[in-house]
Amino acid sequence: MASEPHAVSAADASAADDGILATARRQLERAAALVDVDEAILERLRHPSRVHRVTIPFERDDGDVEIVTGYRAQHDSVRGPYKGGMRYHPDVTEDECVGLSMWMTWKCAVMDIPFGGAKGGVVVDPKTLSDDETERLTRRLAQELRTVVGPNHDIPAPDMGTGGREMAWFMDAYSMQEGETTPGVVTGKPPAVGGSYGREEAPGRSVAIVVREALDYYDRPLEGATVAVQGFGSVGANAARLLEEWGADVVAVSDVTGGVYDPDGLDVASIPTHQEEPEAVSRGDGDPVSNAELLALDVDVLVPAAVGNVLTADNAGAVRADLIVEGANGPTTARADEILEERGVPVVPDILANAGGVTVSYFEWLQDINRRSWPIERVREELETEMLGAWNEVAREFASADGVSWREAAYVVALSRLAAAHDARGLWP
Ligand code: GLU
Repeated sequence: MASEPHAVSAADASAADDGILATARRQLERAAALVDVDEAILERLRHPSRVHRVTIPFERDDGDVEIVTGYRAQHDSVRGPYKGGMRYHPDVTEDECVGLSMWMTWKCAVMDIPFGGAKGGVVVDPKTLSDDETERLTRRLAQELRTVVGPNHDIPAPDMGTGGREMAWFMDAYSMQEGETTPGVVTGKPPAVGGSYGREEAPGRSVAIVVREALDYYDRPLEGATVAVQGFGSVGANAARLLEEWGADVVAVSDVTGGVYDPDGLDVASIPTHQEEPEAVSRGDGDPVSNAELLALDVDVLVPAAVGNVLTADNAGAVRADLIVEGANGPTTARADEILEERGVPVVPDILANAGGVTVSYFEWLQDINRRSWPIERVREELETEMLGAWNEVAREFASADGVSWREAAYVVALSRLAAAHDARGLWP
């Protein structure tokens, strides 16, 4: 099953920009100035509740034992169990996990899903591991995290470098140790073991829904709108394919090796996704285009859906799209956000646009607890309802005050819900 491409390490931001944790904190401060939240609650939200660091030994195929480090950052659980992905990437750091866990808290609150925020990762390059090594690593990771995860406590999911396969192994290892099959301990599993239909396409589907709604907000037709999509993994490819189906002209797509561009629109359905055929996008019909060029194309909508920190102080001035909808987590640095705002380019944030992933994770968790699977039609219908609900809340906030960005509007919705929950629960003891 496909892994979900998301933000990469802080090291990828240009010198003028910050890493993920600094960006996340800066975004929080900007939004905090717009809402009436108790300073003590804000101070709690600036820090994770806990960060777990584990050492994971696993056997390589040649019999050698390798030791890698893993993290699980648990940010806030006032609205429900901690929730968020586990990534395998060589650049994973503790700070990155903390920043990403904060974004999960806001994402679940914007969607009004009864979960808090978490994120974890293992410092390893999954491309260097055989299938057997990945399995042994994942099972040992589940064992090391066994006391800190659980269906009512902290529920991991796929992220960069992980997918349904890893979630199934994690669930199995946890269940064997607990002595009972516990599908609700992770989401993003294959449907054969309690995964939800439609979970894999969900982040891309929510991006497409948000593009559609955002164009409508600005009185622009979706039919014939030109769209450039960076990243052709599960988020980018699903978003591009749906947008094409709904009448948009997807004019450019790319993967890590580069991309293709046709001003009259590509035949997106014929281009293999990164999972179907890795790094095949640039062989598609159309003129070759680099990732840097794609970000500067003159299009109606730009969807950065590959990795984080791609829109920076260095290139935000070159963006010619009329609208940006974030598919990846954290594709826009705080400095790039300011430049785009000054230039009047609206940026619809990740915590709303790609939230379809965690929303269908929530549906999956409900299905696991109820031991009853939903047909794909129901998943799509309920996702549409949840996305429209969240979109309307954020759009109302955006329209209510001059000079508020889409990101700030989404943060205001999230922070208000989090503050109300902290306030109602009070401080213990
Ligand atoms: N990794 C995904 C995200 O960043 C999904 C998290 C989840 O489903 O828990 O939103």
